[in-house]
Amino acid sequence: MRDRQKVTVQGVVQGVGFRPFVYSLANRFGLGGAVWNDTTGVVIDIEGDPSRLAAFLRALVAEAPPLAHVERVIAEMQPVRHYTTFAITQSEMHEAHDVLVSPDVAPCPACLRDLADPHERRYRYPFLNCTHCGPRFTIVLGVPYDRERTTMGRFAMCTACRSEYTDPGDRRFHAQPTACPVCGPRLWVTDAHGDESPMDAPLACLSAHIQAGHIVAVKGLGGYHLVCDALQNDVVRELRRRKRREAKPLAIMVSDLDAVQRLCEVSQGEAALLASPSRPIVLLKRRADCPVAPEVAPGNRYLGVMLPYTPLHHLLLEQVARPLVMTSGNVTEEPMAYENGDAVRRLGGIAEYFLAHDRPIQVRCDDSVTRLVLGRELLLRRARGYAPLPIRLATPCAIPILACGGHLKNTFCLARGEYAFLSHHIGDLEDYQTYNTFIEGIAHFKKLFDIVPQAVAYDLHPRYLSSQYALALEGLPHIAVQHHHAHIASCLAEHGCEGPVIGVAWDGTGYGPDGRLWGGEFLLATTAHFERLAHLEEVPLPGGEQAIRQPWRMAAVYLDRVYGEAMQHLDLDFMHRLDHRSWRVMRQMLARGVNAPLTSSAGRLFDAVAALIGLRNEVQYEAQAAVELEMLAEETSGDAYPFCIRSASRPMVVETQGVIRGVVDDLLQGAPACRIATKFHATLAEMILETCHRLRERTGLQRVVLSGGVFQNVCLLTRVISRLAARSFEVYTHSQVPPNDGGIALGQVAVANAILAQRH
Ligand code: ZN
Ligand code: ZN
Ligand code: FE
Repeated sequence: MRDRQKVTVQGVVQGVGFRPFVYSLANRFGLGGAVWNDTTGVVIDIEGDPSRLAAFLRALVAEAPPLAHVERVIAEMQPVRHYTTFAITQSEMHEAHDVLVSPDVAPCPACLRDLADPHERRYRYPFLNCTHCGPRFTIVLGVPYDRERTTMGRFAMCTACRSEYTDPGDRRFHAQPTACPVCGPRLWVTDAHGDESPMDAPLACLSAHIQAGHIVAVKGLGGYHLVCDALQNDVVRELRRRKRREAKPLAIMVSDLDAVQRLCEVSQGEAALLASPSRPIVLLKRRADCPVAPEVAPGNRYLGVMLPYTPLHHLLLEQVARPLVMTSGNVTEEPMAYENGDAVRRLGGIAEYFLAHDRPIQVRCDDSVTRLVLGRELLLRRARGYAPLPIRLATPCAIPILACGGHLKNTFCLARGEYAFLSHHIGDLEDYQTYNTFIEGIAHFKKLFDIVPQAVAYDLHPRYLSSQYALALEGLPHIAVQHHHAHIASCLAEHGCEGPVIGVAWDGTGYGPDGRLWGGEFLLATTAHFERLAHLEEVPLPGGEQAIRQPWRMAAVYLDRVYGEAMQHLDLDFMHRLDHRSWRVMRQMLARGVNAPLTSSAGRLFDAVAALIGLRNEVQYEAQAAVELEMLAEETSGDAYPFCIRSASRPMVVETQGVIRGVVDDLLQGAPACRIATKFHATLAEMILETCHRLRERTGLQRVVLSGGVFQNVCLLTRVISRLAARSFEVYTHSQVPPNDGGIALGQVAVANAILAQRH
């Protein structure tokens, strides 16, 4: 008795050692046939004893290689052909592309052993990899995944590499980026002008420069990093000056877990995140005796830490034997440099030496940033190691959809069927180069995943460049999605849920259908619809965008609302520091309603309180004041300021004047800033709880979704989750997709899909 089946395996099955795995399985069960890649995944033509064939199919899923994600196995009976052997054959090209591209993966244990073994021919070779590890997304030009369609295509394999590559028993069988010192990429050091310094040990030379206090640039997986000694405070300060990045925390790279434990508190879960094959930057609480220079993350309780994620990083960290600042290679606001010539041009004024190599980077890709909250991952920036794995949609798209995302922290999303390919972090579209990356990225994803969008979703905000791009695409239906609805829908999509829910969307600002700037919203939301049930009290945003950079404006506006003219007599440091002339001008503007759009933003309330307690009058990066306020807050429960909810009005309004009055009273009585910050966080948590409670009474809804940039604030997030859970709400939060604007493209896809489904 013999059976023959054609088996199609879909998911992340290319470039992860799947074919050699199939080959060895077929041999183990004594089956004949062949395996090959095509554009739908891996196809297996397999024949032999029926019971062995069944065992083969079970093992195919149960024993799949570590990096494979098997999404689906389709088996069809075929007429018997009497195969005697099993072979791996050439890739076939087909119409539909159903292949998933693997993210980049850190070196596997076997490769690390090769790296450290003096008898290995790849001993200390910075570009070694195998089918279980190495670069993927950042080097792929197209599918199917084959060497010619990667940036390694230009390197001809030597005889030794070729024989490993063609040996099904070898770990490097069809490892597309495989290389060795004889045939692969090479490393060199240049000065700031790009002139190569002749030397045989570039890593040793670069390490000596770092130890001596120089700032260098290192080409990694998705781009260049600016690198320096993380222990030398004056060097880090100089890096900040040259990079024009005054305050935003810098990430560090540390050689191994033991070394991280000497700097930060690391739970088991956090250790697992650090060491996962995606190797993200993990935010960890720094230890009191942490020797890392204060300039790395001024005023922050947390450090962004990552482990080495390429062989090159492993060698570098071993050589310098100290934690390194590793921050993206750019001048503030620009995207990271990733091409050799461009890197020298743009970073020549910052780095004194460059460690470069000749393996081109196809896709610029930043490091991902994540943290662990209540035992669950909370992704803050989704990029290297995560993208381009899709998010699985519970409701498949009837037609392919492009969603253009937000304006800051942009990501876009292309969706087809049940897959939503959320792009890696693109950045702030205000920058011209970043905007180009956005356009090129969409073209690349369309090709890679064979998606021709038939509808385009975008944010309501008419001035977002992503919206303007969407509206310029002709011949497609355009679907505008309100910003906060998109936030809630992105979290719903993550949970495979359609609603209805109470959606709490708190962030900086997003455009409302009434033309006002929303940002402290309670929505009744399904994926298709939303209704604004409640929001924070509206206040004017004096000077529009400028008020976001200058929190003192918000503090003054709030004081004016609460105290009117009497604010002049408040004996507050804030009032003594206030530039009264600018304030007078601003008040006239407010009185005439000029350039002062109304906003219900929660982010701006954070700004006002931060400015009132003297944290800062101006910010250098988005949400800086809020971050600093969070750093002051203690985890103890603490009492709250009074607030009231006008529940008769539609939508309900959560009044914030009591909070301002409470903060001022505390300041006048000399309460320390940390106490006020703690109380403020407790108050916001109570506001959310109390409002959700009233909305539950009105709507009967139990489920609450928390989304928007404000919920990156762990102090607030954990309080809100535990308070809501204690009152038996069912709480949904983000995990795989950021709560900030990096997640809204996914929400736009979900909303557009639901709206299109209703139209048909
Ligand atoms: Zn490996
Ligand atoms: Zn070789
Ligand atoms: Fe937002």
